[in-house]
Amino acid sequence: MIPTFQHFINGQAHTASDGGLMELFSPVNEQVHARAARGTAADVSAAVAAARRQLDGGAWSKLSGADRGQLIHRLADLVERDAGKIADMDATCIGRPPIEPRLLDLPNAIGTLRTSAGWADKIEGRTIPTPGYMGVKTLSYTQREPVGVVGAIVPWNTPFMITCWKVGPLLAAGCTVVIKPSEETPSSALHLAALCKEAGIPDGVVNVVTGTGEVVGQALCSHPGVEKITFTGSTEVGRIIQRTAGPLFKRVSLELGGKSPQIVFEDASIDAAVRGCAMGLFFNQGQVCAAGTRILVQRWIAEKFSAALASAASAIKVGDPSKEGVTMGPVAKKEQFERVNRYIDAGLAEGAKLLAGGLAERGKGYFVKPTIFAEASNDMSIAREEIFGPVGTIIPFDTEEEAIALANDTDYGLGATVWTSDVSRAHRVAQAVKAGAIGVNCWAPIDPRLPWGGMKTSGIGRECGLSGVLAYTEEKVITVLVG
Ligand code: NAD
Repeated sequence: MIPTFQHFINGQAHTASDGGLMELFSPVNEQVHARAARGTAADVSAAVAAARRQLDGGAWSKLSGADRGQLIHRLADLVERDAGKIADMDATCIGRPPIEPRLLDLPNAIGTLRTSAGWADKIEGRTIPTPGYMGVKTLSYTQREPVGVVGAIVPWNTPFMITCWKVGPLLAAGCTVVIKPSEETPSSALHLAALCKEAGIPDGVVNVVTGTGEVVGQALCSHPGVEKITFTGSTEVGRIIQRTAGPLFKRVSLELGGKSPQIVFEDASIDAAVRGCAMGLFFNQGQVCAAGTRILVQRWIAEKFSAALASAASAIKVGDPSKEGVTMGPVAKKEQFERVNRYIDAGLAEGAKLLAGGLAERGKGYFVKPTIFAEASNDMSIAREEIFGPVGTIIPFDTEEEAIALANDTDYGLGATVWTSDVSRAHRVAQAVKAGAIGVNCWAPIDPRLPWGGMKTSGIGRECGLSGVLAYTEEKVITVLVG
């Protein structure tokens, strides 16, 4: 029996206003594995109205930060209870080995909810001394208020975790939300909304409208009742979102794509660097915003390092992720498969040396072998554009200055890693590279307590930690004449 998912609006399941449905395809066998409501602008309006009512005098607006914190902790308990089930939902939709979301996404999502719960009663203002007003003493203080109704637009690559990066902090700040999950992965967001209800969060605070970006995403970006859009996805769609929401002066935060460098110096531990770079490259089939797809290696060790990374790539077992021993599933959808293959083709045409993997053959399922190109240059399209698949490009360099220049010669600025045993160099390079998160001798950790976000075309704003909570507030100043 193929499951059908409906919207979740004001605490209830709702069909699309016109009854429309869309089909979800398994990337493993290309069969329909679920259907979901194909949302309309009217569905978005109904969800925004429910979210608005909770802010304008509804039960949610009357809760203290401590009350909200307790509810978010309760939600975290329920997510913990259902963690295996939620991990399987995401894994099924995108063809990922379920062990990955079980070990990484879910603990991170639960941690984000708990960290957010802790901040809910610590959103403080300041008192600011001033000379007063026309010779009379005044008291000025600030307070932070919830920004309002949030439209949260989410991608498919780690959907539940990213949804929690938005929902935890925005609930802590006192906002309400309409979530638009990716077309491919509606189930875990809907489950989260149902758990919000079970936790006692009032109906209408967390709503989910499934459907396409062009209809549901755009309706959220242009809806006059939505004060903020928080978007995670491609730089290309981020631009469209800015064009729609910007002229309406909505607050917009954007977590976008990347082409992150991994810089390996000749004094690094090669074994550790190969293991780390392989993880940074191939985790989640390379479908990670901060995937370290540009591997800059000091020329002296480039040949040895490239051979070792190619052998690590070839050792990965690609196949149906439900089968024993398989460590990499297919890429998530047909468009991804074709996109990744196009770039592999471009790498070959541009003259990079193929050391592992290569063009994927079309069979049943969207399987691509981990691919390594070496002896590449930073002007090749495989070094400049986000592929979002298991493809790494090795570029040699001679000096530290050249490595920094190459690392920064990109439109993106999301993550980077530096591999070296020289502690001064590690700090020098980490400070010089323009990216939101740098890992030294490790892959930059994604932790609920650490701010996450990009520079340049990798985005605007930060999620997670205190920065992530404050991003859902407006700062107001109040001045009182005290005489
Ligand atoms: P995408 O941009 O195609 O879609 C993301 C979301 O936007 C989906 O829900 C989609 O339906 C919606 N959307 C599409 N067109 C829209 C429109 N015109 N208006 C409003 N919404 C629209 O991205 P994707 O393929 O789902 O995800 C992959 C991308 O996400 C990659 O570029 C990756 O780097 C990025 N990403 C970034 C981060 C980060 O933290 N910086 C994290 C994960 C993924």
